Amino acid sequence: MRKNRILIAVVVVGALAGLGYFLIQSLLPTTGRSSRVIEWIRHAQDHPDWAARAGSLCAPGTPFVMPTDGLIGYLWDDSFRPGHRHSGLDIFGGTEVGLTPVVAAYPGYLWREPTWKSAVIVRVPSDPLEPGRQIWLYYTHMADPYGNSFISSDFPAGTTEKYIEAGTLLGYQGNYTGDAANPSGVHLHFSIVLSDQEGNYTNELEIRNTLDPSPYFGIPLNGKTAPDEIAGCENGD
Ligand SMILES: [Zn+2]
Repeated sequence: MRKNRILIAVVVVGALAGLGYFLIQSLLPTTGRSSRVIEWIRHAQDHPDWAARAGSLCAPGTPFVMPTDGLIGYLWDDSFRPGHRHSGLDIFGGTEVGLTPVVAAYPGYLWREPTWKSAVIVRVPSDPLEPGRQIWLYYTHMADPYGNSFISSDFPAGTTEKYIEAGTLLGYQGNYTGDAANPSGVHLHFSIVLSDQEGNYTNELEIRNTLDPSPYFGIPLNGKTAPDEIAGCENGD
Protein backbone atom coordinates (compact mmCIF):
# COMPACT_ATOMS: atom_id res chain seq x y z
CA MET A 1 0.00 0.00 0.00
CA ARG A 2 2.72 2.42 1.04
CA LYS A 3 4.69 1.76 -2.17
CA ASN A 4 1.58 2.51 -4.22
CA ARG A 5 1.06 5.80 -2.47
CA ILE A 6 4.65 6.82 -3.16
CA LEU A 7 4.27 5.80 -6.77
CA ILE A 8 1.10 7.88 -7.12
CA ALA A 9 2.81 10.85 -5.50
CA VAL A 10 5.74 10.56 -7.91
CA VAL A 11 3.39 10.40 -10.90
CA VAL A 12 1.35 13.40 -9.70
CA VAL A 13 4.43 15.52 -9.00
CA GLY A 14 5.91 14.58 -12.37
CA ALA A 15 2.68 15.47 -14.18
CA LEU A 16 2.46 18.84 -12.41
CA ALA A 17 6.08 19.63 -13.21
CA GLY A 18 5.49 18.71 -16.85
CA LEU A 19 2.36 20.87 -17.00
CA GLY A 20 4.21 23.77 -15.39
CA TYR A 21 7.07 23.47 -17.86
CA PHE A 22 4.60 23.36 -20.76
CA LEU A 23 2.78 26.46 -19.49
CA ILE A 24 6.02 28.43 -19.07
CA GLN A 25 7.23 27.43 -22.54
CA SER A 26 3.93 28.27 -24.23
CA LEU A 27 3.17 31.49 -22.38
CA LEU A 28 6.68 32.87 -22.06
CA PRO A 29 8.54 32.54 -25.36
CA THR A 30 11.36 34.62 -23.87
CA THR A 31 12.83 31.64 -21.98
CA GLY A 32 15.65 31.10 -24.47
CA ARG A 33 16.44 34.80 -24.65
CA SER A 34 16.46 35.10 -20.85
CA SER A 35 19.29 32.59 -20.51
CA ARG A 36 21.34 34.68 -22.97
CA VAL A 37 20.57 37.89 -21.09
CA ILE A 38 21.65 36.34 -17.78
CA GLU A 39 24.89 34.98 -19.31
CA TRP A 40 25.57 38.40 -20.91
CA ILE A 41 25.01 40.32 -17.67
CA ARG A 42 27.37 37.95 -15.84
CA HIS A 43 30.07 37.51 -18.49
CA ALA A 44 29.68 40.17 -21.22
CA GLN A 45 33.45 40.21 -21.80
CA ASP A 46 33.31 36.56 -22.94
CA HIS A 47 30.85 37.32 -25.77
CA PRO A 48 31.96 40.42 -27.69
CA ASP A 49 30.30 39.03 -30.84
CA TRP A 50 26.86 39.22 -29.17
CA ALA A 51 26.89 43.02 -28.97
CA ALA A 52 25.20 45.55 -31.21
CA ARG A 53 27.12 48.83 -31.64
CA ALA A 54 25.64 52.29 -31.04
CA GLY A 55 25.31 54.26 -34.28
CA SER A 56 25.63 51.21 -36.54
CA LEU A 57 23.19 50.25 -39.28
CA CYS A 58 22.04 46.63 -39.02
CA ALA A 59 21.22 46.43 -42.73
CA PRO A 60 21.86 48.77 -45.65
CA GLY A 61 19.09 51.19 -46.60
CA THR A 62 17.23 51.02 -43.27
CA PRO A 63 16.29 54.25 -41.47
CA PHE A 64 17.35 53.70 -37.83
CA VAL A 65 20.83 53.31 -36.34
CA MET A 66 21.38 51.23 -33.18
CA PRO A 67 20.60 53.51 -30.21
CA THR A 68 23.13 51.95 -27.81
CA ASP A 69 25.81 49.27 -27.30
CA GLY A 70 25.02 45.81 -26.02
CA LEU A 71 22.97 42.64 -26.32
CA ILE A 72 19.52 43.06 -27.88
CA GLY A 73 18.11 40.92 -25.08
CA TYR A 74 14.32 41.23 -25.35
CA LEU A 75 12.23 42.02 -28.38
CA TRP A 76 8.99 43.71 -29.32
CA ASP A 77 6.05 41.45 -28.35
CA ASP A 78 8.11 39.28 -26.03
CA SER A 79 6.15 38.28 -22.91
CA PHE A 80 7.56 38.55 -19.38
CA ARG A 81 4.51 37.05 -17.66
CA PRO A 82 1.23 35.55 -18.85
CA GLY A 83 -0.80 38.19 -20.70
CA HIS A 84 2.08 40.69 -20.90
CA ARG A 85 3.30 41.99 -24.27
CA HIS A 86 6.57 43.97 -24.35
CA SER A 87 6.25 47.18 -26.37
CA GLY A 88 9.89 47.72 -27.34
CA LEU A 89 13.47 46.48 -27.40
CA ASP A 90 15.62 45.95 -24.29
CA ILE A 91 19.32 46.39 -25.07
CA PHE A 92 21.67 45.43 -22.21
CA GLY A 93 25.02 47.24 -22.12
CA GLY A 94 26.78 44.63 -19.98
CA THR A 95 28.25 47.44 -17.80
CA GLU A 96 27.42 49.17 -14.54
CA VAL A 97 24.92 52.04 -14.62
CA GLY A 98 25.86 55.38 -16.18
CA LEU A 99 28.56 54.05 -18.54
CA THR A 100 26.97 52.79 -21.77
CA PRO A 101 26.00 55.68 -24.09
CA VAL A 102 22.51 56.01 -25.57
CA VAL A 103 22.26 57.87 -28.89
CA ALA A 104 19.37 58.95 -31.11
CA ALA A 105 18.31 56.27 -33.60
CA TYR A 106 16.80 58.87 -35.95
CA PRO A 107 16.51 62.69 -36.11
CA GLY A 108 13.56 64.49 -34.56
CA TYR A 109 12.32 66.86 -31.86
CA LEU A 110 13.15 65.84 -28.29
CA TRP A 111 10.75 66.17 -25.35
CA ARG A 112 11.37 65.43 -21.68
CA GLU A 113 8.38 65.87 -19.40
CA PRO A 114 9.06 67.90 -16.20
CA THR A 115 8.76 64.79 -13.99
CA TRP A 116 10.83 62.43 -16.16
CA LYS A 117 14.02 61.16 -14.48
CA SER A 118 14.98 58.37 -16.86
CA ALA A 119 13.22 58.95 -20.20
CA VAL A 120 13.07 61.15 -23.26
CA ILE A 121 10.75 60.92 -26.27
CA VAL A 122 11.52 62.22 -29.75
CA ARG A 123 8.82 63.39 -32.17
CA VAL A 124 9.40 62.26 -35.74
CA PRO A 125 7.00 64.30 -37.89
CA SER A 126 7.10 61.87 -40.81
CA ASP A 127 7.63 58.12 -40.35
CA PRO A 128 10.42 57.16 -42.79
CA LEU A 129 8.55 53.94 -43.63
CA GLU A 130 5.11 55.57 -43.85
CA PRO A 131 5.67 59.20 -44.91
CA GLY A 132 3.14 61.64 -43.47
CA ARG A 133 2.44 59.59 -40.34
CA GLN A 134 3.89 61.09 -37.13
CA ILE A 135 5.63 58.71 -34.72
CA TRP A 136 7.57 59.08 -31.46
CA LEU A 137 10.78 57.30 -30.36
CA TYR A 138 10.92 56.53 -26.63
CA TYR A 139 14.18 55.91 -24.72
CA THR A 140 14.04 54.95 -21.04
CA HIS A 141 15.79 53.48 -17.94
CA MET A 142 18.45 56.23 -18.07
CA ALA A 143 18.70 56.70 -14.27
CA ASP A 144 19.99 54.81 -11.24
CA PRO A 145 17.63 52.94 -8.84
CA TYR A 146 17.08 56.12 -6.81
CA GLY A 147 16.16 58.25 -9.83
CA ASN A 148 19.49 60.03 -10.26
CA SER A 149 19.33 60.84 -13.96
CA PHE A 150 21.91 59.86 -16.59
CA ILE A 151 20.21 61.95 -19.28
CA SER A 152 22.54 64.44 -21.01
CA SER A 153 22.55 67.92 -19.44
CA ASP A 154 21.60 69.19 -22.93
CA PHE A 155 18.07 67.89 -22.22
CA PRO A 156 16.92 69.02 -18.75
CA ALA A 157 13.48 68.04 -17.43
CA GLY A 158 10.89 70.19 -19.19
CA THR A 159 12.70 70.25 -22.56
CA THR A 160 10.29 70.56 -25.52
CA GLU A 161 10.80 70.36 -29.28
CA LYS A 162 14.62 70.40 -29.22
CA TYR A 163 15.88 69.27 -32.65
CA ILE A 164 18.45 66.47 -32.60
CA GLU A 165 20.31 64.56 -35.30
CA ALA A 166 20.70 60.77 -35.47
CA GLY A 167 23.63 59.77 -33.27
CA THR A 168 23.17 62.65 -30.78
CA LEU A 169 24.17 61.54 -27.26
CA LEU A 170 20.97 61.33 -25.16
CA GLY A 171 22.44 59.87 -21.96
CA TYR A 172 23.62 56.59 -20.47
CA GLN A 173 21.97 53.28 -19.63
CA GLY A 174 20.64 52.76 -16.11
CA ASN A 175 18.36 50.43 -14.16
CA TYR A 176 15.64 52.76 -12.83
CA THR A 177 12.21 51.20 -12.42
CA GLY A 178 10.58 53.59 -9.94
CA ASP A 179 11.08 51.01 -7.17
CA ALA A 180 14.56 51.41 -5.63
CA ALA A 181 14.32 47.94 -4.04
CA ASN A 182 13.76 46.28 -7.43
CA PRO A 183 16.00 47.76 -10.10
CA SER A 184 16.12 46.13 -13.55
CA GLY A 185 19.25 44.88 -15.28
CA VAL A 186 21.21 47.80 -16.78
CA HIS A 187 19.63 48.43 -20.19
CA LEU A 188 17.93 50.78 -22.62
CA HIS A 189 14.25 50.24 -23.42
CA PHE A 190 13.52 51.67 -26.88
CA SER A 191 10.11 51.79 -28.54
CA ILE A 192 8.33 53.30 -31.55
CA VAL A 193 5.12 54.95 -30.37
CA LEU A 194 2.09 56.07 -32.39
CA SER A 195 0.50 59.53 -32.17
CA ASP A 196 -3.11 60.14 -31.18
CA GLN A 197 -5.52 62.31 -33.20
CA GLU A 198 -4.12 65.50 -31.63
CA GLY A 199 -0.52 64.55 -32.41
CA ASN A 200 0.41 63.59 -28.83
CA TYR A 201 2.21 60.36 -28.04
CA THR A 202 0.02 57.50 -26.87
CA ASN A 203 0.51 55.17 -23.85
CA GLU A 204 3.70 53.28 -24.64
CA LEU A 205 2.86 50.40 -22.29
CA GLU A 206 0.06 49.25 -24.63
CA ILE A 207 1.59 47.24 -27.46
CA ARG A 208 -1.19 48.33 -29.85
CA ASN A 209 0.18 51.89 -29.52
CA THR A 210 3.63 50.78 -30.71
CA LEU A 211 5.20 49.49 -33.92
CA ASP A 212 7.28 46.39 -34.66
CA PRO A 213 10.84 47.79 -34.94
CA SER A 214 12.02 45.04 -37.35
CA PRO A 215 11.70 46.99 -40.64
CA TYR A 216 13.24 50.14 -39.11
CA PHE A 217 16.44 48.25 -38.24
CA GLY A 218 16.30 45.64 -41.01
CA ILE A 219 16.63 42.59 -38.71
CA PRO A 220 14.03 40.25 -37.09
CA LEU A 221 12.99 41.93 -33.82
CA ASN A 222 9.48 40.50 -33.38
CA GLY A 223 9.44 38.36 -30.23
CA LYS A 224 6.86 35.96 -31.64
CA THR A 225 8.88 35.03 -34.73
CA ALA A 226 12.54 36.02 -34.25
CA PRO A 227 15.14 33.44 -33.22
CA ASP A 228 16.67 33.54 -29.72
CA GLU A 229 19.98 34.69 -31.13
CA ILE A 230 19.70 38.24 -32.44
CA ALA A 231 22.18 39.58 -34.96
CA GLY A 232 24.95 41.72 -33.51
CA CYS A 233 24.53 44.65 -35.96
CA GLU A 234 28.20 45.42 -35.94
CA ASN A 235 28.64 45.83 -39.69
CA GLY A 236 25.42 45.94 -41.65
CA ASP A 237 26.82 47.84 -44.61
ZN1 LIG B 1 11.63 46.97 -22.13
